[in-house]
Amino acid sequence: ETVSMNLADSIRAIPDYPRPGIVFRDITTLLGDARAFRRAVDELVQPFAGLKIAKIAGIEARGFILGGAVAHQLSAGFVPVRKKGKLPLETLRATYALEYGTDEIEIHRDAVQPGERVLLVDDLIATGGTAEAAVNLLAGLGAEVVAACFIVDLPELGGADKIRRLGVPVRTLVSFG
Ligand code: 5GP
Repeated sequence: ETVSMNLADSIRAIPDYPRPGIVFRDITTLLGDARAFRRAVDELVQPFAGLKIAKIAGIEARGFILGGAVAHQLSAGFVPVRKKGKLPLETLRATYALEYGTDEIEIHRDAVQPGERVLLVDDLIATGGTAEAAVNLLAGLGAEVVAACFIVDLPELGGADKIRRLGVPVRTLVSFG
């Protein structure tokens, strides 16, 4: 067994998806590889063990897959941050910019209690617009956002720096330029 298995090698690059000129980083191959999936979850949680994280907030949809595993590993609860219109009870909603237009995400108003320590999880950070909106929702509910973590960073798009400027530490495992 090679100890230096590289997580980057388990992520596929899909040219011209979803539009010409975009290289989509496909993590379904990482998720389907038992050792890579475990390695990614172990590395994501490593700095946070023992920090008394109450809840993991996962961003729809790939953040649900990772966030569930991270929550289990940290013995934390799981809270979904969803695309608008999916949650059945009272929500807090945040609007964020896309390349063309805007989108909205929501969280249940009773999903976290004021002062609870929450870790935000998603598969990838690009411009950081989605994660920023999620941080704003959590802060709006009075949560303490301990950090945000992602398997993949696209540093040229500046998202991780944007989240750090909000005062939220960011952990990423793989960078693609
Ligand atoms: P951002 O808001 O940071 O620009 O975009 C990040 C969000 O879009 C994340 O929820 C992420 O899942 C999704 N996303 C954007 N580009 C990619 C990509 O190349 N690969 C994957 N897996 N997700 C992406």
